[in-house]
Amino acid sequence: MDENIREMISDLKTYLEYLKGMGIVSIPVSESIPEKVTRSENLTLADVRKELGDCKRCKLHRGRKTIVFGEGNEKATLMFIGEGPGFDEDIQGRPFVGKAGQLLTKIIQSINLQREEVYIANIIKCRPPQNRNPEPDEIESCNPFLIKQIDVIRPKVICALGTFSAQTLLKTNAKITALRGKLYDLEGIKVIPTYHPAFLLRNPERKREVWEDMKKIVELLGAQ
Ligand code: URA
Repeated sequence: MDENIREMISDLKTYLEYLKGMGIVSIPVSESIPEKVTRSENLTLADVRKELGDCKRCKLHRGRKTIVFGEGNEKATLMFIGEGPGFDEDIQGRPFVGKAGQLLTKIIQSINLQREEVYIANIIKCRPPQNRNPEPDEIESCNPFLIKQIDVIRPKVICALGTFSAQTLLKTNAKITALRGKLYDLEGIKVIPTYHPAFLLRNPERKREVWEDMKKIVELLGAQ
């Protein structure tokens, strides 16, 4: 083998070992990144909301009452991303305000933060009929707006809540049980998937694992 190539492979190995040591276990390759999360200096969340408008880009607009855009601190260092609005969220136009939302609020408070200090959004912004799972075309229509929200906020850490959030953000079909608690990279933003609060309501014995994930988040937020 050419000496230069041998050297390049050796350097790459060293770099990958370094990333592994930092807890980064997956590197998205270019085809797997949905949209670029880049810094747009002047864009605000109000601009993104304006661009979304009275969205009719997918079929969910027919059954929704309100668009649940997301809420919280535009300068948050921590962002939570759930799946999509349910009954209460659809009525109030705010994310995570039902039973699962009350648990999310407690989870946030458990790491000494208030809801207003973080940003809370969802993969899709309109409630699916009977709270069914979001469909691929719905996720695809909504994704550019979520990416823009992430782009404006540029949090240090994103906590992906549940299967749909983790799979969409990380472009994978892996199960949440395999993804949770590990650290991923989305264009320089750390992504840590954990269980969805609605799952925790049905399986309270899994709260301990979420607590472990929250401790990791606190460490990441504290790190330079
Ligand atoms: N579940 C979600 O994923 N998002 C919400 O906003 C509410 C419940």
